[in-house]
Amino acid sequence: MNILSVSNLSKVYTSGSRKLTVLDEVTFDIKSGEIISIVGPSGSGKTTLLGLCAGLDSGSTGSVVLDGNSLEKLSEDQRAAVRNQSVGFIFQNFQLLPTLTALENVMVPLELKKRKDARKKAQELLDKVGLGNRGTHYPTQLSGGEQQRVSIARAFANEPKILFADEPTGNLDTETGEMIEKLIFDLNKEEGTTLVLVTHDLELAAKTQRIIHIKGGKIQEEAHA
Ligand code: ADP
Repeated sequence: MNILSVSNLSKVYTSGSRKLTVLDEVTFDIKSGEIISIVGPSGSGKTTLLGLCAGLDSGSTGSVVLDGNSLEKLSEDQRAAVRNQSVGFIFQNFQLLPTLTALENVMVPLELKKRKDARKKAQELLDKVGLGNRGTHYPTQLSGGEQQRVSIARAFANEPKILFADEPTGNLDTETGEMIEKLIFDLNKEEGTTLVLVTHDLELAAKTQRIIHIKGGKIQEEAHA
């Protein structure tokens, strides 16, 4: 079963009279439980593609069917509901809420799901990423690697069917990168979560089952890793 089907997806940004085609007729499917990577040069459209697949933004033309939902037919609120139900997202720059502590950041998706045990569950997730003793810290009081781990705990809190991660190991030292890689791959092993990783790290890409190469907004090739 496909958890994600992308068909003829294009994204055009307009600035004044200039048009920039960032994604150009992209088509691919991802089966439930698969692990795939999207690689390509900087500016090739990877982050834009990930955002469209996750329903964070909408395409100009074409379609994205995510967990049975045709995203282009939904309002922004309906897309948010699909995200809350099915998606985990790890952002390149973490996007933690600066006014909330680490624990409170992880609690956000749990409270949206009205989980009564939100605090307990969030603490368990911080323990899982090795930050059980950092719950009261604010994002500015954490290192980059620690912020990334909080953002992973927040993504896991959603119990996602599909996890999108934008350069999850970028800008991190090797040891922290390996820890984060293991956390993400274990989620697939333990829960069967589909993984879609944008990365420039070819070693990481080689550990995934399929690699989609993108350049200038077009898929250049799809290869088995
Ligand atoms: P990558 O992740 O591969 O580095 P991006 O998807 O971030 O590429 O960006 C692809 C292109 O789209 C870049 O040229 C970028 O400047 C442009 N772009 C991204 N977001 C916007 C936006 N909101 N408005 C205009 N152009 C954008």
